[in-house]
Amino acid sequence: MSTVATNLSTIKERLSHALEISGRTAEEVEVIAVTKYVSSNRAYEAWEAGIKHFGENRVDEAMNKYNALEARGTWHFVGQLQSKKAKKIIPYYNYIHSLDRLSLAEEINKRMPPGEKMKCLVQVNVSGERTKTGLAPADLEAFIEQLKEYPALEISGLMTMAPFVEYPEEVRPFFKELRQLRDIIATKQLAHAPCHHLSMGMSNDFEIAVEEGATMVRLGQLLVGQDVSGSEEVRSD
Ligand SMILES: *Cc1c(COP(=O)(O)O)cnc(C)c1O
Repeated sequence: MSTVATNLSTIKERLSHALEISGRTAEEVEVIAVTKYVSSNRAYEAWEAGIKHFGENRVDEAMNKYNALEARGTWHFVGQLQSKKAKKIIPYYNYIHSLDRLSLAEEINKRMPPGEKMKCLVQVNVSGERTKTGLAPADLEAFIEQLKEYPALEISGLMTMAPFVEYPEEVRPFFKELRQLRDIIATKQLAHAPCHHLSMGMSNDFEIAVEEGATMVRLGQLLVGQDVSGSEEVRSD
């Protein structure tokens, strides 16, 4: 078995335990392989192991991997996105997880091909850490209302990054809060914002996130590891 396949089978076991605890089923959670630390070869290995969802936070790297996979898979942009780069990523990505301002919504809206919609998740800074991007929870409802002005966006859900902590249990309140925010918005049944997805949980804390309702977990190191060619540059652009 490949490294990724071995990692995946361990992850699936841990995942099914977390699903069982919370009375959920495997179909409710998509595993996104975040390939920012690894080469195209490793991304391809993930595809062969059965991964269908890929996450990247860099524009050019993602294009290489997308090509290595011959345009297969569902692609998620998970990094901070400069408005001027929106145009470049649109053809490659199915989801943008880092919508955090109206100027970016406006740019995506302007650049989408006619009649198509980009699925966007609004990034929320539930922990309030200064270093994290995303909207303050208090600003979220008004922000989502305003997004109805951009018909080429569908607001598919919310995303958060929890602080890195030694004991993952410590981040449970943040995941709970994101879920509550999602429920408030989903209950409104806004046409432009069905908002059913919760993108939360990474290598360090995905089980807690799944217990709290995650529908997408974003796994980098634990799933695809970190190989030489991808490790030189891990910052987002
Ligand atoms: C890098 C990254 C991940 C994956 O992180 P791991 O801890 O390696 O699982 C998930 N989400 C975002 C937004 C990231 O930038």
